[in-house]
Amino acid sequence: MLKKFPFFLPFAGCRGQCVYCNQRAITGAVSVPSPNDVRLVLKKLAEPREICYFGGSFCRFPKETVKEYLDAVAEAAPSGSTIRFSTYPGDLSDDEMRALIKSYPVSRIELGIPSLDPAVLASCRREADPDKILDDIAVMMRDSLPVGVQMMIGLPGQSRASSLNDMEKLAAVKKNDKWDLRLYPCLVITGTELERMWRSGRYAPLSVFEAALWGGEFIDRAAELGFVPIRIGLQETESLAAEVIAGPHHPALGELILADAEARRLVRCSHDGPWRAPRRFVSRFTGHGRFGVRRLAAYAGITENEAGRRIIFED
Ligand code: SF4
Repeated sequence: MLKKFPFFLPFAGCRGQCVYCNQRAITGAVSVPSPNDVRLVLKKLAEPREICYFGGSFCRFPKETVKEYLDAVAEAAPSGSTIRFSTYPGDLSDDEMRALIKSYPVSRIELGIPSLDPAVLASCRREADPDKILDDIAVMMRDSLPVGVQMMIGLPGQSRASSLNDMEKLAAVKKNDKWDLRLYPCLVITGTELERMWRSGRYAPLSVFEAALWGGEFIDRAAELGFVPIRIGLQETESLAAEVIAGPHHPALGELILADAEARRLVRCSHDGPWRAPRRFVSRFTGHGRFGVRRLAAYAGITENEAGRRIIFED
């Protein structure tokens, strides 16, 4: 697998601003590099990389601009490099756009699908036609385009049941494909509509503990359905740390979610244990106040000490 080399194009192509989004705070990028800027950077790379365009709605650029960014990679990156980008779902229903994308070595198209619940989408100020999103994905799959999804939990008006239902709907379209999955628990970031909603009491963010349990259930089910979690929680950066004002912001949130998911899986496979886990998971169970051991105890209905005795780590 090629190492990723990201370019951030904050809000590029976006037609509005989703209530929770402040790409400049999340990525630390203040301006959009031009295709020529990209070209100059890529010429200095010594080895092939997976070149990523993140932070905006890539296929909402005019086609000529999309082509310029793709050409920059094709012409300047070392041979063997591939392209990954994130975009709004729906824009690849356009035949010409799909044909354009297919003529480049695109390794993954990450679709921003925070929710498929029309009420939640409307609360987030996103286009709210889930059937169209699912139809468009089916068209992409018919053309063998590599799909990935970026989903969220803790959005305004969103429940656990609604987020799990979204995943089941996507799994029905995905069939046996392996899709990359990024899961982002919703944070309140400065300068967003969500900040105003939170300050006026119209939005209550998840606590770290709530996000760990909701995320754990989500990731456990996602893994069962054949999604491949590649990222949980936003990448921690100085700019993000300075701009988050509420919500489940914790440097190890991803680990807490994975610990909860693993505890659920182990107890589902054997309610009373003993449970066997790879040695590389030791910190997942014993770190952060023995979070994983405590989740095992909770799901098995036993004491924390007993749960600690019943888990065995193996090489
Ligand atoms: S979430 Fe995506 S589509 Fe919405 S404003 Fe941010 S970058 Fe644009």
